[in-house]
Amino acid sequence: MSEQPEVETHCPYCALQCGTRLADAGAGVTITPTEFPVNRGGLCHKGWTAAELLGSPDRIRRPWVRRDGRLVPADWETARDTVVEGLLAARRRYGPDGAAVFGGGGLTNEKSYLLGKFARLALGTRHIDYNGRFCMASAAAAGNAAFGVDRGLPFPVTDLADADAVLLAGANVAETMPPLMRHLVRPDLIVIDPRRTATAARAALHLQPAPGTDSALALGLLHLAVVDGEVDTTYVRERTHGFDAAWRRAVSWWPERVEEVTGVAVGDQRAAVRMLGAAKNAYVLTGRGVEQHSNGVDTVGAFINLSLALGLPGRAGSGFGCLTGQGNGQGGREHGQKSDQLPGYRSVVDQADREHVARVWGVAPDSLPGAGRSAYELLDSLGTADGPKALLVFGSNPVVSAPHARHVAERLAALDLLVVADFVPSETARMADVVLPVTQWAEEEGTVTNLEGRVLRRRRLRRSPRHVRTDLEVLRGLAVALGEPAERYPDDPREVFDELRRASRGGRADYSGISYDRLDSGAALHWPCPGSDHFGTPRMFLDGFAHSDGRARFVAVDHTPPGEEPDSEYPLHVTTGRVLAQYQSGAQTRRIAELNDAAPEAVVEVHPDTARRAGLRDDDLAVISSRRGKTLARVRVVATMRQDTVFLPFHFPDQHSANLVTNPALDPHSRIPEFKVGAARIGPCGEG
Ligand code: SF4
Repeated sequence: MSEQPEVETHCPYCALQCGTRLADAGAGVTITPTEFPVNRGGLCHKGWTAAELLGSPDRIRRPWVRRDGRLVPADWETARDTVVEGLLAARRRYGPDGAAVFGGGGLTNEKSYLLGKFARLALGTRHIDYNGRFCMASAAAAGNAAFGVDRGLPFPVTDLADADAVLLAGANVAETMPPLMRHLVRPDLIVIDPRRTATAARAALHLQPAPGTDSALALGLLHLAVVDGEVDTTYVRERTHGFDAAWRRAVSWWPERVEEVTGVAVGDQRAAVRMLGAAKNAYVLTGRGVEQHSNGVDTVGAFINLSLALGLPGRAGSGFGCLTGQGNGQGGREHGQKSDQLPGYRSVVDQADREHVARVWGVAPDSLPGAGRSAYELLDSLGTADGPKALLVFGSNPVVSAPHARHVAERLAALDLLVVADFVPSETARMADVVLPVTQWAEEEGTVTNLEGRVLRRRRLRRSPRHVRTDLEVLRGLAVALGEPAERYPDDPREVFDELRRASRGGRADYSGISYDRLDSGAALHWPCPGSDHFGTPRMFLDGFAHSDGRARFVAVDHTPPGEEPDSEYPLHVTTGRVLAQYQSGAQTRRIAELNDAAPEAVVEVHPDTARRAGLRDDDLAVISSRRGKTLARVRVVATMRQDTVFLPFHFPDQHSANLVTNPALDPHSRIPEFKVGAARIGPCGEG
């Protein structure tokens, strides 16, 4: 089945996109790391074992269609006709918004682009959003407001290695992207995390705030930076706007008040500011821990304010950045699968942006739908009076990864038509009316954009099983069956990318100078890259920020408490996150034997006193309850946990899903759900 004996490509999982060499000598695919700068010959457990899924017995190898309540094998024509009949029926009865699309941050740039085009032209729906809304939306909104553009890291990962200090707020990179730790050996690490994670354990200083209080802590650090004289006043005067308004909010966050709210001792707050202030070169980085909150945008904004006060962003050797999580989490949010965006990071409500994209697509600007619902709001509305009745899911498993999972499953079950394109029978696929088998990463060509905005080639090593198609082929087939001209939906990735380049030209994420030929010749191209003779932009903002006056913006933010606080009924915080051996909803990694052995089940981390009070011991099965429902997890007593907090990994399905208890409270700006804090109680299984 091998097309080429060996290819250089990248890991299918997280946004670090470690470089790998795949070889197929007939006895199976082997993976070896390359000297790609982000991983320099290293890979994590997930990367090493990624090839196992290619030949997995669990692989979806042909279409499935639901008949008499059961999914049965079908041919492509039957599957396609079932999908198209359902979509047309939804459109006839409910109008174009009767159908919706849900995408994923793991889809290649080409798939993300064509999916957005398919939704807006072939379906004519405004309802397209994706699981990246659960991931990077707060960071993106805050970055756009402060810097005028959102690129997770506006500098290469390798720059971190030369820093003197790095503040990591809400990111457990030692488990989520271990090779990144190689670049964090020299800097003094300051970690902000309610848990003593593997990353926090390696830090020079660990600040352990109560879940949901990160913005208060960030405001307090800004307060101390000002009163302790660590502000770079020349930088603030010459390169920013809005310091005074931001300071007026931070002025009331004196250290003792911050300690009272967050639990972080005054001495530790002061030590963090001193370490950052003393560093010649320093970075402030955020992750999902501080972003997945109902005040996520303000929290990221508060950390950006701190970094601006210290004079870090846009200075060589220093900076601010957000660590993108999903494999193509960066590219996935740039090419139009987000409800408010068109390709090139353009706005779906801006007339000039609509005209540009409509010109590339060969349609009238007025024919493009407006902004649709955000991911959770879209899922929440499925099957309701004014919600979509048909849903197409590509590369996502929302029944496990969305908050308030039981409710989401009920909404999916209320649909007239649920279609899932995937290569494994995820929990969402098992609910579908039609399942479409699609290729995996080593079976397809394309591009992804990693966390530092570098565009990378994904290369095909081997052909897919006979009845499996690429997502591009699936979209083209559906579009044509819906009456669209075939030439509007190329299924050759290079052709799609060339169209994407035109659509992005002049946009905030300009790919117009990036081509397959340049990437294949070894060029390292970070967007923006506005011409074929442009060398790309590995380091942004050195000459100015992306706002029209070249200055960054402080954004005046305050601390708001989380959507739920502990009370007598639910006396604990519950927070969620990842473990080393699993990835996202676990649909892929739970099927890999080595990874499953390493992390076979949901484990709840509990402080010894909390466990004792709840009548729990190590290895007991516990029930964790919230106002949304209950989930079961094996107890691990962890002395470094906060007494008021339990931690759940979110990779497990069914009655072990962490998202059975998470709170779908949304940030008012980014519409990101509050995965990182809710109120809960814990007890032995059988109680609760
Ligand atoms: Fe893959 Fe991320 Fe692990 Fe690298 S760190 S091997 S990209 S999962």
